[in-house]
Amino acid sequence: MMNRNKLLLIEGDSTEGKLILEALVDPRASSFDVDWVRLLSDGLKRLGERKTGLVLLDLCLPDSEGIATFEKVFAAAPHIPIVVLSRLNDESTANESLKRGAYDYLLKDHLDRYTLTRALRHVIERKGVEDVLFNEKEHAQVTLNSIGDAVLSMDISGNVTYINRVGETMTGWSRQEAVGRPLAEVFQIIDGTTRKPARNPLEEAILENQVIGLNPTCVLIRRDGLELAIEDSTAPVRDRFGQVTGAVIVFRDVSASRAMTIKMSHLAQHDSLTDLPNRVLLTDRLTQAISLARRTSEQLVVLFLDLDHFKNINDSLGHAIGDKLLQSVAQRLVACARHSDTVSRQGGDEFVVLLPQIGRAADAAVLAQKMITALAAPHTIAGNELRINASIGISRYPNDGQDAESLLKSADTAMYYAKKKGRNNFQFFKADMATRAAARQSLEGLLGRALERHEFVLHYQPKVDLQTGEITGIEALLRWLQPDRGPIPPLQFVPIAEESGLIVPIGRWVLREACTQLRAWLEVGLRRVSVAVNLSGVEFRAKHFLEGVRTILEETRLEPRFLEFELTESVLMNHVEGSVSRLQALKALGVQLTVDDFGTGYSSLSYLRRFPIDALKLDQFFIHHITADPKEAAIISAVIDMGKKLKQRVIAEGVETREQRNFLQVHGCGEGQGYYFSHPMAAEECAKLLRTGIAKTVSD
Ligand code: C2E
Ligand code: MG
Ligand code: MG
Repeated sequence: MMNRNKLLLIEGDSTEGKLILEALVDPRASSFDVDWVRLLSDGLKRLGERKTGLVLLDLCLPDSEGIATFEKVFAAAPHIPIVVLSRLNDESTANESLKRGAYDYLLKDHLDRYTLTRALRHVIERKGVEDVLFNEKEHAQVTLNSIGDAVLSMDISGNVTYINRVGETMTGWSRQEAVGRPLAEVFQIIDGTTRKPARNPLEEAILENQVIGLNPTCVLIRRDGLELAIEDSTAPVRDRFGQVTGAVIVFRDVSASRAMTIKMSHLAQHDSLTDLPNRVLLTDRLTQAISLARRTSEQLVVLFLDLDHFKNINDSLGHAIGDKLLQSVAQRLVACARHSDTVSRQGGDEFVVLLPQIGRAADAAVLAQKMITALAAPHTIAGNELRINASIGISRYPNDGQDAESLLKSADTAMYYAKKKGRNNFQFFKADMATRAAARQSLEGLLGRALERHEFVLHYQPKVDLQTGEITGIEALLRWLQPDRGPIPPLQFVPIAEESGLIVPIGRWVLREACTQLRAWLEVGLRRVSVAVNLSGVEFRAKHFLEGVRTILEETRLEPRFLEFELTESVLMNHVEGSVSRLQALKALGVQLTVDDFGTGYSSLSYLRRFPIDALKLDQFFIHHITADPKEAAIISAVIDMGKKLKQRVIAEGVETREQRNFLQVHGCGEGQGYYFSHPMAAEECAKLLRTGIAKTVSD
């Protein structure tokens, strides 16, 4: 440690040296410990040897002159304060030495003890304060370099004045290079979402004179181009008078935590199976797209897509395969869509596609067809070649809904119609679909209570032997007498009952009612004919259907040969293999089987041969065209022949006129049924008919 009172006097002139020495050595006060040398060379030597606190230097020495004298001493002891001794006529050199680092100068012409000691004491104090400040600065530097955050400061004109070590690493600029450069060069930031340059936070802090937080998506571009997500705060720097002199910014790398936040929000907005946007994100985007379309008066389109019979795949091959199929479907849908479209999964086998900008409705149709075609190609999953189709409903803004919810609902309704139209197609939403859907919904509600409220009855319609005119059988037809709406025909409510599954309990009621009725007729000795009950596909495939039939036959004690089931061709042709085994099981009970509405479902002869059926019932359509169209007539006579060859009974339904009856007779059709012979009627009337026989004979 240097002794502040140890003074080195370098003075060539003996007289002046003595005077100074006397002035400094004051026996009354704590005086200086002065070491006097006359030559510069000696002075420099002493500086190396002793711990000097202060140098008093005459620039005019025997071995050195002028400013050079100062330079040499300063170079030898840059940390020791130097006070230069000068004369009035050489004050300019003294001034020059001040610029180069001298603490002060004294004019020999005005020197006295008081001024000399006062000046020297002042220098010593100043040096002491400077040392403290220097130490504090050192300390601050060390602190700033060891904290984990980057620190960067700039002056009021926007140039970098300081950057710490973390700041150097994060910006890629060393302190030497950065200091003095404009901030924007060293601290390049952009908005992570828009990729536009972010507003300079330092300038903002200076302008607003307060602490400013950075934009939460701020990204720092390092000198080498690497991007870092950062978080920061910036504060203005004020001097002791409160004037803003610059600003300091503290920032840290938050790439990892920002990546985590992004991942979390991705999970909340995407479907985990397919990684497509989920219902939440779709609704969000749809709402945004609607407000944009509203402003620009443009159209937008929503496609609601539902896979056909996806449940079968899940049920038969398991959920793991089902999931893979959904992933494959998702990929194909995305491949069909444009980048700006949103393909989302709503859950289950439902997908919604949002087309935010669409020129013409026809473009939506093109995309819907493209998707249907893309999905139809086989999906190879775990060695299985799976086939799946889809039904699509399309709704448009603004016509079919003003908000996200109603647009989705309209598209869903249209999708439902696509299903009705035989699936694997697309339908645009139409206004009347909504009213029909609403009517259907209310009907479904009423249907659910119809059984327990005893609103169903059976009507019976006879079948007649076309040669003899005798009744060969009775068909039971369901009637719903809805108290508020009057009679509702089966074509309106049976499909709804099928879809809701209500057809199973209703069908069981029909079967029990028909069997009970026939049993009663047989017991009172009426004509021994069979009763035919219509069966829908849902009932035919229901789990406990066969046991149900067996139980009802036992309960009503009806011989099975008096019971006949009518199944439509389309029911049988759907899953032929399953149909064959089910029909065989039914047949084994001893009941009779008829194909209803024959000629509408394109059955092939080879299938017909495999089904254990007793009768073909020709669809009304052919019968109604018999006389008008010779081509239809030809087909009918061919079908009659075919039925006969298969040793099946052929029954014509919907016979309304004598001409039709004649044609059927001539072409050898066995039986007929229709308004010409008798309308369907209530049980009591039918009983009368069974007793008396049909009034209209087969020979008039
Ligand atoms: P379906 O089994 O083909 O029944 C024949 C339909 O034609 C009956 O209509 C009958 O009233 C009507 N019909 C009879 N003769 C003529 C005629 O000469 N001309 C015309 N134009 N129509 C005639 P309905 O009773 O309205 O039944 C319609 C369909 O509803 C039935 O067609 C059947 O598929 C279904 N259905 C009726 N009852 C039941 C039932 O209990 N269960 C099930 N699953 N379906 C039933
Ligand atoms: Mg029928
Ligand atoms: Mg029919």
